[in-house]
Amino acid sequence: MSRVSDAPAASRETLGAEPDGADARGAISLRRITKRYGDERVVDAVSLEIRPGEFFSLLGPSGSGKTTTLMMIAGFADLEEGQILIDGTDIAAEPPQRRGFGMVFQNYAIFPHLNVFENVAFPLRARRVTGLEIERRVRDALALVRLERFGERFARQLSGGQQQRVAIARAIVFQPKVVLMDEPLGALDKNLRYEMQVEIKDIQRRLGMTVVYVTHDQEEAMNMSDRIGIMNHGRVDQVGPPTQIYERPVSTFIARFLGEANLLSGELREVCDGVATIALPGGVTLRAVAPKPLAAGTPVSLFVRPERIALAETAGPPASALNRAAGRIRRMSFLGNILRYVVDVSGAEITVDVQNAGSRRLAEGDAVALAWAVADSLALEG
Ligand code: ADP
Repeated sequence: MSRVSDAPAASRETLGAEPDGADARGAISLRRITKRYGDERVVDAVSLEIRPGEFFSLLGPSGSGKTTTLMMIAGFADLEEGQILIDGTDIAAEPPQRRGFGMVFQNYAIFPHLNVFENVAFPLRARRVTGLEIERRVRDALALVRLERFGERFARQLSGGQQQRVAIARAIVFQPKVVLMDEPLGALDKNLRYEMQVEIKDIQRRLGMTVVYVTHDQEEAMNMSDRIGIMNHGRVDQVGPPTQIYERPVSTFIARFLGEANLLSGELREVCDGVATIALPGGVTLRAVAPKPLAAGTPVSLFVRPERIALAETAGPPASALNRAAGRIRRMSFLGNILRYVVDVSGAEITVDVQNAGSRRLAEGDAVALAWAVADSLALEG
């Protein structure tokens, strides 16, 4: 399936945008925004600086406050405390329709009584754009989502993915500097989701718009985002580029939430030059980077991603930069591209992912040696 990048070039200019002025960049500042429902602070003093042209995802489990945060930016939920600034201007007094944001929601069905063309033309007509200008802008927006030839169709004549593309075209046709998306691909199947992720990201780059994107799908967030904010209980626990959050999670919650992680519980023995020595209950001692000062005796978890661990049948020589451990295969899961081994190391279970690239498969009960870089390990509290 071809991508939007193969479509006739439509850019910010051909869609009729004004050249970006210093006052029209789409920078979003959230300053300690707070929302309660009953006694619960569902959004709890959240502060974020989202840059112009950035693809920013709010990622977190269900109920963590992502949608409420987005609705506060959109103007559909009131702030109890805090401020929202767009390009430095407080927008508290602006009702949703005056904020000028494009919006795409999971179930934001396109208008069934209007054809595709009129659906996309709708925000332009509301802004009193007329005649040929409408023709041109709708045509360009439909080209961007690869629906040039679908203008006459109605919602019932479109697949789910096509309907969602119409919703995206409608959200961008008036050249908003900010587009808010809430689980826009939630209703689509896995393959189509991936294609649409690539398409949305491509459109966002080409138009240079700021996107705030809500999802609970970690792969989706990693694939699309410049930065991700991880939400948990109404707070943003960590903000950073996907690689940073994946490789340097600040808590066991985030380590577990984003991808597969080993979190081996133990006790901190000492920290020396930023390297923690951790004793596991079974007697094995391992080392890990200590991102912050911790006192000896603190319960910690050693974090390491399964794909960072190498498996061998015999242990190599000791090396100062490596953790080494001996164990026995307890389980093997065949995941297609990956073989996932669970290895028993003196009572601790360590998961190791190996590319299914033709190497010999190990079986349950086989003795193995594990090795991984101390630099790939983190000592996380708890
Ligand atoms: P998420 O998008 O991360 O799944 P939400 O922002 O939708 O989370 O919800 C956060 C919390 O706020 C949840 O506990 C939810 O039940 C509660 N909540 C959301 N909207 C309302 C509402 N209109 N009235 C009462 N509680 C709400």
